[in-house]
Amino acid sequence: MKKVSATGSGKFLKKLEAFRPTLGSLPVSILAATYLLLSLNATFWARAGVYLQGEPWAYAGLFAAMFALFTIATVAVSVKYVIKPILIFYIAVAAAAAWFTDNYGVFVDTDMVRNVFETTRAESQDLMTPGLLRHFALYFVLPSALLSWVRVTHQTLGRKVLENGFTIFVCLLIFAGLAATFYKPYSAIVRTKRDLVKTLNPITPLVNTTKYLLGVSQEVALVVKPLGEDARIAAPSDGSSKPRVAIVIVGETARGASFSLDSYTRQTNPELARQNVIYYPNVSSCGTATDVSLPCMFSNLKRSGYSHKAGLENENVLDVLSRAGVDVTWMENNTGSKGVADRVRNVVITGSKDPRFCKDGDCWDEIFLEKIDEWLSGITKDSVLVLHQLGNHGPAYYERYPDAFRKFVPDCQTAELAQCTDAEIVNSYDNAILYTDFVLSGIVERLKARSSTLSTGFLYISDHGESLGENGLYLHGTPYFMAPDEQTRIPMITWFDGQFASSMGLGLDCLRKSAARPLSHDNLFSSLLGMMNVTAKVYQPEQDMFAVCRAAPALPSSS
Ligand SMILES: [Zn+2]
Repeated sequence: MKKVSATGSGKFLKKLEAFRPTLGSLPVSILAATYLLLSLNATFWARAGVYLQGEPWAYAGLFAAMFALFTIATVAVSVKYVIKPILIFYIAVAAAAAWFTDNYGVFVDTDMVRNVFETTRAESQDLMTPGLLRHFALYFVLPSALLSWVRVTHQTLGRKVLENGFTIFVCLLIFAGLAATFYKPYSAIVRTKRDLVKTLNPITPLVNTTKYLLGVSQEVALVVKPLGEDARIAAPSDGSSKPRVAIVIVGETARGASFSLDSYTRQTNPELARQNVIYYPNVSSCGTATDVSLPCMFSNLKRSGYSHKAGLENENVLDVLSRAGVDVTWMENNTGSKGVADRVRNVVITGSKDPRFCKDGDCWDEIFLEKIDEWLSGITKDSVLVLHQLGNHGPAYYERYPDAFRKFVPDCQTAELAQCTDAEIVNSYDNAILYTDFVLSGIVERLKARSSTLSTGFLYISDHGESLGENGLYLHGTPYFMAPDEQTRIPMITWFDGQFASSMGLGLDCLRKSAARPLSHDNLFSSLLGMMNVTAKVYQPEQDMFAVCRAAPALPSSS
């Protein structure tokens, strides 16, 4: 029986084999180029249509030029045994990038590629939505299966070299001819609308991945340069002897526009509003993604001088504080410190199993409140605790707050933002802000409770903002030169107890009055040194946002 059925299925396979279409390697390459260009570049063609409005010939020319370019990329790999895996790889990269570009307006630049490589498991699970799987089935699995099924015939080697070489040559002529013909509109777009090139799939993601991998191989051998070797703690200006303690909270994806302490008409900061905090409404971020903003804000490089490599090569303000004798601890409830906490005590909370706060590797930020109490109880000298919160990490905003904070409804209950209205997305985002408000206020309360034994200070600053559908953009990571205000204007808040302020000679009324001046992540480095009364050559008083409100500059202690 078995033998018969085996023969039966063999016959079936043979029949199926008879249906296998046969195509030459050149037509297969051209078909693949056409598929990539037409199906996986919706954003590119939509934007090109807008930028070349009123110039139909230039638009048609762009289409022909891109077709020539894509044909070169596919014909160049049209070699036996190589053609199918590489074309399938092209389709996979283009399908993945198209999902994020078309749905969220996210570009796959080198910062985004770094995000993909360095992301945590919990974070990538957030992005694995049913919609993404459907998109992948339709735009990757189906065409790849078709491609695998087709029997590709190849010419003899000599003929193939001639045929492929000639095709590439003709395509190059077409590309160069069109570029010369429409030089004016094209060069204007390349110069002023740099976003267009960033949406071209799979060329942009492939180029940026190569750049990223080359960069990583260079960074392996980096040596970190020490910073602030002369750093020391100055004596408190009021002669007090209590340990000076500051908690710095680095927010995640919180934008100024969604804080009621800022300009938002919705009450998203009911708790902080009662805490006598100072809110700074004009603060801009260094980058539009965690990977850039986080190392940049702690470095003394400033936005203009920051690069990923320079960030890794130089120590940061935590190293200087620590060298001066301040006890520094980092607590991580996000996707990692991005190198900032490499040389200080690093307590990782991400992935904890505490069922009260954690689910699937992500923990609500409330988990910090208990940890802070433990930390405060162990203080013996001037100390800084940095909390890297999970905050409003998207797109699964609804997972960032417990039910008790589901105040704005209906809220978007999926990470697949396309399934929600903009109003629902904003509701879930605002609920997460409301929860951060509760956590931040809880931190201030814990500091207040220690005022008999410690001088305490609090500084909250977000890493970057978020787009919630304004101009069709979602999430963040838009290249800085074209990023909207929503992604770069970030909330910053300080609170100091009387003793902390007087021990740094700080006038709180002055600080409140000057809070609206323009500030940025660039100011954080010297401000944190100033806050902790640390003197060092790398300290720049003009960058210290507290300096203008200090009675007298702190003097180095004589001990
Ligand atoms: Zn971030």
